[in-house]
Amino acid sequence: MERAAVSIENLKSNIENQEVLTLADLASWSRPGTSLAVLGHPIKHSISPAMHNAALAVLARDDARFAAWRYFRFEVHPDDLPRALELLHERKFRGVNLTVPHKIIAFDRVAEVDPAAQPVGAVNTLLWTERGWRGHNTDGYGLAAAMKETLGRDLSGAHVILLGAGGAARGAAVECLQRGCASLSIANRTRENLDALLAVLAPIAGGVPVRGFSPSGLPQDLPAGSLVINATSAGLKSSDPAPIDLTALPRPAAVFDMIYNPPVTPLLRSAAKLSAPGANGLAMLVHQGAKALEIWSGVPAGRTAPDMAAAARAAMGG
Ligand code: NDP
Repeated sequence: MERAAVSIENLKSNIENQEVLTLADLASWSRPGTSLAVLGHPIKHSISPAMHNAALAVLARDDARFAAWRYFRFEVHPDDLPRALELLHERKFRGVNLTVPHKIIAFDRVAEVDPAAQPVGAVNTLLWTERGWRGHNTDGYGLAAAMKETLGRDLSGAHVILLGAGGAARGAAVECLQRGCASLSIANRTRENLDALLAVLAPIAGGVPVRGFSPSGLPQDLPAGSLVINATSAGLKSSDPAPIDLTALPRPAAVFDMIYNPPVTPLLRSAAKLSAPGANGLAMLVHQGAKALEIWSGVPAGRTAPDMAAAARAAMGG
């Protein structure tokens, strides 16, 4: 039976009506249903509540259990994160998502960490357990699933050129290595941040060649046909330059930019000029969210991702 499509109009109004909550709301929390939350600073632009509540509304049509599930957003300053996590646990929130700047801070504050997230050093998804929070990181899964869906590319066996050495780059690099990429070349503006990332990756690289370089000093022997992944924030502002001169690289097979707002970045414009397939990070956001919901609910990510994608597109203006 074909399922009714999620109404774009309903989604738009849900997004507009979603309140930004604070620690004070948490202190007096008395909601009886199953609650989920995303914490960030700032949080008001997050489209995660729209994605999750849309998916939960669809799940509730077939399974009454989900009728009382809701996902809320909380503005939490990093200084308040420990207290917020304590309160959320006491109030028995089933799950929490963490976004900038909480992913790394929370890593040291959870009771246990999923072994796959250990080398990433950051958690974006927390699951309530009796002992405390269990931390997971679904960003790497989101990246791999998005590259497959949007570009038809697997990280496994690929030569990857990764741009950036911050938190997102670290997650992407670990995912590339865990999935058995053929080689990993990492470019970053600031050498010491690059060196710090290379040091983290060295013990988990196995036999995979991993090296770093400056975006302004390209090695001569970079492989052609590689997957270029932008994990820098260059492109978030319209005045930003592309994080690398794509025309100076051997022709890439595809270009993935983790940025999704704006939807077309200077790097993606440059890929289009070279007729190289390109995709932005919206699908990554969707798939990391669907994986988080799987961790909390047991519903396979593949089942909720299409509804989350519809909500994400609506939130971005269709
Ligand atoms: P961080 O602040 O941890 O890292 C930022 C990185 O960007 C660093 O490598 C930094 O280089 C580089 N950088 C910043 N400005 C410039 C510039 N003007 N030119 C070149 N390099 C620059 O951020 P995150 O790693 O958390 O996030 C990076 C990007 O990934 C963001 O745009 C974020 O929105 C996106 N993201 C998307 C997700 C999705 O689901 N689609 C999930 C997670 C992140 P340096 O070391 O030199 O400072």
